[in-house]
Amino acid sequence: MVTDGYSHYECDVATCRAEAYARPGTKEAEAFSQRTRLDSEGRQRTLTLCPRHARAYDVLARVVEAAFRRFEDAGVCDIGRKGGDAS
Ligand SMILES: [Zn+2]
Repeated sequence: MVTDGYSHYECDVATCRAEAYARPGTKEAEAFSQRTRLDSEGRQRTLTLCPRHARAYDVLARVVEAAFRRFEDAGVCDIGRKGGDAS
């Protein structure tokens, strides 16, 4: 028997091997999700992620979002430097 309508889902994290062949709309398919952001050059980047990496991405996004909020509030960049010397 041949059943059409399956799609291949694969995590876009280079070292991750998670993948699935599933019909869109099924639980297996919906386990893979997409995240979209603008990179520092303003280009839109969309990733398809397995459940584990989607959770990790969301944690990272919340941390970065909080840093941008602090920047918006006080004009200070407080990540990405060692020692924490503020200027
Ligand atoms: Zn993954």
